[in-house]
Amino acid sequence: MVRVRFAPSPTGYLHVGGARTAVFNWLFARKERGKFVLRIEDTDLERSKREYEDRLKESLRWLGLDWDEFYRQSERIDLYREVANSLVRSKKAYYVYAYPEEIEAIRERLLSEGKPPHYREEMLKEYDTPERRKEYAEKGLSPAVFFKMPDKDYSFEDIVRGKVVFKRGTIGDFVIMRSNGMPTYNFAVVVDDADMEITHVIRGDDHLSNTLRQLAIYEAIGKKPPRFAHVSMILGPDGKKLSKRHGATSVEEMRDRGILPEALVNYLALLGWSHPEGKEIMDIREMVEKFSLDRLGKNPAIFDFEKLRWMNSVYIKRIPVGKLVEISKPFLEKAGFDPNHPKLKEILEAVKDRIRELSELPNVVDYFFKEPDTEAEFEENEKNALEEILENLRTVDWNRKSIVKAFSGPMKKYRVKGKDFFQKLRKALSGKEEGVELDVMIEILGFEEMRRRLEKCLR
Ligand code: GLU
Repeated sequence: MVRVRFAPSPTGYLHVGGARTAVFNWLFARKERGKFVLRIEDTDLERSKREYEDRLKESLRWLGLDWDEFYRQSERIDLYREVANSLVRSKKAYYVYAYPEEIEAIRERLLSEGKPPHYREEMLKEYDTPERRKEYAEKGLSPAVFFKMPDKDYSFEDIVRGKVVFKRGTIGDFVIMRSNGMPTYNFAVVVDDADMEITHVIRGDDHLSNTLRQLAIYEAIGKKPPRFAHVSMILGPDGKKLSKRHGATSVEEMRDRGILPEALVNYLALLGWSHPEGKEIMDIREMVEKFSLDRLGKNPAIFDFEKLRWMNSVYIKRIPVGKLVEISKPFLEKAGFDPNHPKLKEILEAVKDRIRELSELPNVVDYFFKEPDTEAEFEENEKNALEEILENLRTVDWNRKSIVKAFSGPMKKYRVKGKDFFQKLRKALSGKEEGVELDVMIEILGFEEMRRRLEKCLR
């Protein structure tokens, strides 16, 4: 059975890069009727925060990416220690009693001698003295554990990149357990992926070089590595690695701007994957149905916010208006508008084609909630026509057709030119040069409100 995992470190919010990794893993798990594991990699004690973990989970839930199993690395320390100790017993790893400064000094010495900065057991062993052991015990420190890097080539077949070879001598021995008792990333990730029987590791290719250490650890613990699929990083429009400089990049920011989760998942799925028929807009069911790892691309994907906004506009147009009402309310409330406006449904129907993020909504609908403070200057004949139009409107059935009809007689009678007149009317009613159709606007505003807004122009 396929088992995949999403393994974020809770050191910040969920960014679009991480979210895309989660999307790929989730789609693959659902497609293959496998399991999607959420594993919080919180062994960096200083940087990991429970608050970030909560927000990561909240972001995943908002995206609709549900998980089948949940783990936290900080609750699995005994397992890492046990595996590390057994590697020491089988001489595949060794304890190190050197302090970080001493370890760093070795590195600097090697570099100054023009050698690659690779640690070897002989260099580190000399600190393993009875005095040091005593000191460690007194300070409550555990020795670090270093993994003995075998002197051989490693290679694997990456699903995205094909055969990847790491030549012997690329790296030296490396730490797997720190003296604070915590495992390093490369070690914990292998112990966990093996223990959780992960079959496929789909992740960003910034982890490609880590795979060498991970392969060596799999070999040492006698476990078969999973299949790897390293997907290209997401770049900003300038071709540089996507970062805060490029604007909104966290899932929370997307949500706050009114990007719909369905649109974001759809957009992220296409950053490095493509539908077999090149389809762009697809719901989650179709993505699951069509997803396959062999359509993951090698080329870096560019995060194009305008394209996401376009895609979002397609989703905004499509969702049932009842749902649109519900998700629009927070955006209106934030702008100080009454989210329980009796005509909210009609208002949203009228403007939903005009917005690409829900955060644009207040600007587009403001005049339905408060009178604009603009005035339009009507000519005498236009004023006369307006008086009669209002008179007509007072008694008609309130719908678009009769609203339009109420205009024609008076306009003819006073020889009012349509284009100019309608433009002024729009300005007087909404304070804007453009927006929803005039008849729709009037229908939603209602007779009394329309009359009130026009009165000051007619005086
Ligand atoms: N915790 C790692 C990260 O957030 C996971 C990497 C992996 O998937 O192996 O980058």
